[in-house]
Amino acid sequence: MMQSIPGNVFPRKLDGPLPQAVDAEGVWIIDNQGRRYLDASGGAVVVNLGHARKELAEAVSSQILHGYYAHPTMFTTPVVEEFASALTAHAPLGIERFYFMTSGSEAVETSIKLARQIQLARKEPGRFRLIARWKSYHGLSLGALSAMGRTSFRTPYAPMLPQVEHVPPPYCLRCSFGLKYPECDLRCARFLEETILNLGPETVSAFLGETISGATLASCPPPPDYWRVIREICDKYGVLLIHDEVMVGMGRTGRWFASDHYGVAPDLVTMGKGISGGCAPLSAVGVQKEHFDLLRKTTGFVHGGTFSHHPVSCAAGLAALRILERENLIERAEKIGVVLGEKLKQRFSDHPRVAEVRGIGMLWGVELVQDKETCLPYPREEKVTERIWKKLFKKGIILYKSMGMAGKDGDGLVISPPFIIEEEDLDFVVQSLGRAVDKVV
Ligand code: PLP
Repeated sequence: MMQSIPGNVFPRKLDGPLPQAVDAEGVWIIDNQGRRYLDASGGAVVVNLGHARKELAEAVSSQILHGYYAHPTMFTTPVVEEFASALTAHAPLGIERFYFMTSGSEAVETSIKLARQIQLARKEPGRFRLIARWKSYHGLSLGALSAMGRTSFRTPYAPMLPQVEHVPPPYCLRCSFGLKYPECDLRCARFLEETILNLGPETVSAFLGETISGATLASCPPPPDYWRVIREICDKYGVLLIHDEVMVGMGRTGRWFASDHYGVAPDLVTMGKGISGGCAPLSAVGVQKEHFDLLRKTTGFVHGGTFSHHPVSCAAGLAALRILERENLIERAEKIGVVLGEKLKQRFSDHPRVAEVRGIGMLWGVELVQDKETCLPYPREEKVTERIWKKLFKKGIILYKSMGMAGKDGDGLVISPPFIIEEEDLDFVVQSLGRAVDKVV
């Protein structure tokens, strides 16, 4: 095993040096002391297929031996073409053209540029504005950060960010309008129409939203008819709809894409995280064929990077997609996700410090509060999420942290294991989480 001296990599997030992950198998990560960690979050909601999959290693090494780089403006490669056509079979209706990159933030930025370019191609040069949602997560590069609605991440860079309008998210636990679904008649969705009208529809390019909020709202599926109403509003005013599926695409919610739950196809969709099973940096933007055809006939789309359409990353993506198909892992994610949700609800629904257990498929969240009745969040300084997370990490269980649900306060933990996890491991995770929550709050 390779030996190295830690210290030259930043940032360091824990108080002391991080353990070194030297091996992995199935749902487990193993460190250099031989300690085993149950990866119950798939890292950052990435490792959908489990660790150390042989098929991924074979696909990547075979592609390396057949050419790992040919400039994407000079060549296409068979693996990139095959991956795009395989994705077409599962993508939301009409999404048939794909642009491949390396990170979710890059995919979000590309989707924003692409929407603007489509508006230019439609001869609508006045449409430049983007509308996104508060409490959303879209990435940390400047363009993605401008769309992101988590204020604490934006504030230090606020003067440098391109202007983006934000509307309230479909976060029923803390409804921005103090209403209850369904009596609310989806006030949060209808607020988009007001915003478009206030800004002037002729200035609005696109609306961007996570199809199901993950990182900031600890898995928060919107009400069933939310996206249908948003789609209607976008269509009425010529605004393009971008679904950010970086976290929830590729089976995470028990469907290929989260938009499948809502019967709505976006104009553009972003993907990332689990798209390669986590074994290579890979992200994508998918676009409706009619928009692509228009661009091809008119303005084109000047965009790209050194590692766009990278054959090795796409080989990983294609192999990951074939594993999902062959092993019926998305059906499994749906079924075992129901089991996970039931276990979490059983353990936490009556807990005095748990405001809500919510989720879908293999993406579940537990939101913690000081007072269940008033939903009073813990102040950020108490670091509740961090303390629970650390306790679990020391016990060898990895979860994903979610914070900032009520402004800069608010605590949640995300449980998002690989789809291959067994029920007994889920029991271990839920019981350990229960004990850690009881000790800390
Ligand atoms: N979009 C969503 C919905 C995400 O959850 C994330 C990351 O958590 C991103 C974009 C950014 O992805 P990346 O960290 O790969 O840049």
